Amino acid sequence: MMRLAVYVHFPYCERRCPYCDFATVAEERDRIPHERYASAIAEELSARADELRGFELHSIFFGGGTPSLWASESMGRAIEAIRSRFEPSRSVEITVECNPSSLDRAKVCELRSIGVNRLSIGVQSLDDERLRFLGRLHDAQGALRALEAARSEFERVSADLIFAAANQSEEELLRELDALLGFDLEHLSLYALTIEEGTPFFERLRRGKLPMASDERYARLFLEAEARLLREGYRHYEVSNYARPGGESAHNLAYWQGESYLGLGAAAVGCLPLPNHRAVRRKNRIAPNEYLDAPAAEAQEMEILEPLDRLNEALMLGLRLEDGLSLAQVKERTGLDVLEEKGRAIQRGMERADLVLEGDRLRVPRDRWLRLDGIIVDLF
Ligand code: SF4
Repeated sequence: MMRLAVYVHFPYCERRCPYCDFATVAEERDRIPHERYASAIAEELSARADELRGFELHSIFFGGGTPSLWASESMGRAIEAIRSRFEPSRSVEITVECNPSSLDRAKVCELRSIGVNRLSIGVQSLDDERLRFLGRLHDAQGALRALEAARSEFERVSADLIFAAANQSEEELLRELDALLGFDLEHLSLYALTIEEGTPFFERLRRGKLPMASDERYARLFLEAEARLLREGYRHYEVSNYARPGGESAHNLAYWQGESYLGLGAAAVGCLPLPNHRAVRRKNRIAPNEYLDAPAAEAQEMEILEPLDRLNEALMLGLRLEDGLSLAQVKERTGLDVLEEKGRAIQRGMERADLVLEGDRLRVPRDRWLRLDGIIVDLF
């Protein structure tokens, strides 16, 4: 049986953050159609039941948006609807993305009682000024309270941190990391602030009104954070992600390792295999109301991935991992041999020490990660 990672997109937030380009809408908590959204997920699943044959459930990830705003009972119905489509299994990782402004002790207990076993908390910063700059609803104390509540019930907790925002210094970043380390989290995600077109931050940047870290500052922060977390026993297992040994995100590893994933909900994206080493990528209707009106309707976008597209994607995602990618696995999925398709470019990369080939695995050494994008582009 093939493993399947299931992503459920919850498209509502209390307020839009000025840097965010995710598919979300701002909605008051009381006006979110909690039950209707759960029913829509169940309806979409029924309509797509044929696509799930031959899979075993590996993980469920509720992302958004702000899934911690979703009434737990309704989310529990969605979990049941998903689980009931597969053979029972106890080892399914079920993660919920949470914002500190919608996560307290009571909510944490509810999430535990509906079968959630991992929380990913959008801390983003532990500095009040930086949180205001990022337009977040919580302050540092709120983030610390949410982490405390999460750790009181969950072994598996991850925190997201945005770095290199608003002229952050190395000392400031290390102070925030130290505060997080006090919670003995099994997983940390560190993302640099990126400015996406169409966001208020993009407009501010265009008008020269957004303080941005230079490339040099970004590099120093990236390396300082890495050194600190490695000293604490974390593994830098993906460019933006750190974990205690065994604490990696099974769901995200499935993406990076090119496994199959199903996307449910408004704007959700999934990618499932087709015969002859092809695959189909599907994106659901983006507007929540359109999705709610017809959850079983045709996708908004469908794209057929040919074997070479899949091989390129395997390189783009797999080389983000410290362990790199398995050439045998890529061959099994795409029918293509990476060394035959990309031999010359890989050879050049190895001569520059940008790439390492060890047995079956091709990887980019960690000390080259600051120029990972360029190394990957050189392969195409
Ligand atoms: S809470 Fe998260 S998903 Fe919602 S607008 Fe802010 S960054 Fe985007």
